[in-house]
Amino acid sequence: MDGIISAWGKILRGIKPNLSIELTRECPLRCPGCYAYGDHHLEGDVTLRSLADFKGDDLVARVKALVERHDPLHLSIIGGEPLVRYRELGEILPWLAARGVYVNLVTSAVRPIPLAWAGLNRLLIAVSIDGLQPEHDARRTPATYDRILKHIAGHQVTVHCTVTRQQAQRPGYLEEFVRFWSAQAATRRIWFSLYTPQAGEVSDERLGEEDRKRVAAEILALGPRYPKLEASKRMVLEGLLEPPESPDECIFARTTHCLSADLQTVVTPCQLGGTPECSECGCLAASALTAVGRYRLPGGIPVSRMLDWSEAVGRHVGSVRSFVRPKTRAGQARTIPVRAVTD
Ligand code: SF4
Ligand code: SF4
Repeated sequence: MDGIISAWGKILRGIKPNLSIELTRECPLRCPGCYAYGDHHLEGDVTLRSLADFKGDDLVARVKALVERHDPLHLSIIGGEPLVRYRELGEILPWLAARGVYVNLVTSAVRPIPLAWAGLNRLLIAVSIDGLQPEHDARRTPATYDRILKHIAGHQVTVHCTVTRQQAQRPGYLEEFVRFWSAQAATRRIWFSLYTPQAGEVSDERLGEEDRKRVAAEILALGPRYPKLEASKRMVLEGLLEPPESPDECIFARTTHCLSADLQTVVTPCQLGGTPECSECGCLAASALTAVGRYRLPGGIPVSRMLDWSEAVGRHVGSVRSFVRPKTRAGQARTIPVRAVTD
């Protein structure tokens, strides 16, 4: 509840409560269909690989300055592959934990995850696993099943699988996946997202409407039998099957400020960048927040309507804060611009 109140307070002040950063442009993997390295991930001719990124003390100092400026309640650290900068993260993560920031570190576990991170408060380590071993290893070498199992030992990670059409069309595939990962001591929870295509995309991964319904039904049926699988009915039925129609309706996009590896370039409209097909969005975070947004408060007002009003107040506060009128020594009002509340 404290978190919700803090988030609301920030929105009312015109500040997005969540921050997402692509920590580095580097990644030793070459996953087919990776959105981060797509030509249209960032605006204009800029690509993730063409951006300047940072390392060493410089990166640590820049990330700390960014967090101090935005003061997020929640920070997603994505890539590229964040573990490429594991030394820097060894300084950044304990500092974030001490500040009370909730952190979601998304990794392929291509290298060992330092054991020192296992005890950090509010740190969630999400390991991306693309299906069962044969399919995963074919897509994600060198971050193979064998390596992941070694590299997550001693941790409690979140296993995150993005379901593609190939997986959706194989009966029993998801259950086999959930059974395998539920049996691993290092698995704390299991999440499923659905593959989110870009507008106009033609690919083997893109799910059809029937695929989406079948996957949603299967996830719901598995939930009661596998306690590590997190999939509430509301999130699956209202989030995954009825995603927002556009970024303007997406609470996740509206409340998250996304920056690429130069820590300046803004990724729009959400972490995916480019022109995602929102009506087929399968992002778990977006689903969860969509479900929350459709929840009706006493009086029948949906939470999303409250967000509209709060953002309107926030925009007004932001515009007022853009101009302060301190008195000069002569007692005359002087208008000076200050840095926008959000970058
Ligand atoms: S690990 Fe992630 S960033 Fe790297 S290629 Fe694969 S999907 Fe892209
Ligand atoms: S998270 Fe999904 S619904 Fe939200 S803007 Fe991105 S693609 Fe669209």
